[in-house]
Amino acid sequence: MNKLTLIQPDDWHLHVRNGDILKTVIAHSAKQFSRAIIMPNLNPAVITVENAIDYHKEILLALPANSNFTPLMTLYLTTELSQDEVKKAAESDLIHAIKLYPAGATTNSDSGVSDLKAIYPILETMEQVDLPLLIHGEVTHQDCDIFDREKVFVESSLNDIVKNFPNLRIVVEHVTTKEAVDFVLAASNKVAASITPQHLLFNRNAILAGGIRPHNYCLPIIKREYHRQALIKAASSGNPKFFLGTDSAPHLTGAKENSCGCAGCYSAYAAIELYAEVFEQVNALDKLEGFASIFGADFYKLPRNTKSITLHKQSWTVPESYKVNDKTITPLKAGENLNWKLQCC
Ligand SMILES: [Zn+2]
Repeated sequence: MNKLTLIQPDDWHLHVRNGDILKTVIAHSAKQFSRAIIMPNLNPAVITVENAIDYHKEILLALPANSNFTPLMTLYLTTELSQDEVKKAAESDLIHAIKLYPAGATTNSDSGVSDLKAIYPILETMEQVDLPLLIHGEVTHQDCDIFDREKVFVESSLNDIVKNFPNLRIVVEHVTTKEAVDFVLAASNKVAASITPQHLLFNRNAILAGGIRPHNYCLPIIKREYHRQALIKAASSGNPKFFLGTDSAPHLTGAKENSCGCAGCYSAYAAIELYAEVFEQVNALDKLEGFASIFGADFYKLPRNTKSITLHKQSWTVPESYKVNDKTITPLKAGENLNWKLQCC
């Protein structure tokens, strides 16, 4: 197969930051995707409907001229979030979900939640107004091994949330383990998962073998090959519970190549091409459209896109970096070859 045409995909988990980085990265996402769920972990975080409206405006201003890209906004769940604010969010056309970060789990998650039971009244309101909950599914206790944090969260907290709120739509974001995949498979159709390109492309050797590779470091951290195989199987199975969410999370190169480097892989520049590589490896290119362009829209109860995109089988080399004023962002697979290329319009 040398050419692949798909309904235009959406990205159901995206970080675009703000300021100068936003200008660089939003153009990349807008070239590929029709819509994206925009993560609220700015500093300060997007915690009110008004914050989300302001951030939405900032994103629209940063978009290239004539872009039809639609940012789908989210709120950051804190224990202070009022039930009125949840209802206001549900009524807003701009806001499509609320994101739960366990405190300290990842970039700018310090104001996240430490005691999950404390937010149960908020989850009850979300369930009533049918506003989806997006979960960064990792425990954060320092005594839990970093490679086990998702598994432990699934067994403890996630199980409890799903049991207590059976009608709440939940996306287990960026699943990285077989345990998380199995949990989602066994749950009702109110529970789905997004999967990133890096967790499909790499196992943990890509971070640690032969030298530390900070640009492959993200949270939840990339796991063993056994987990990667489970993720590939889920993503390419045609099961609508699993859909595309890049978790593209840009940091300046200096913040990644650092004695305490930031977590996050930058994949937005070629997200759909990166997924196509994986689907091709397992002879499942016919399953890419469901995963990338259909299942997420259906889960979020949004119309499917009507435009299409075309990918060509064509080798090209990923740039070493993308410019942000006088600084740079280093993309995932910098300097390596990719086999698919999105046709430019
Ligand atoms: Zn994320």
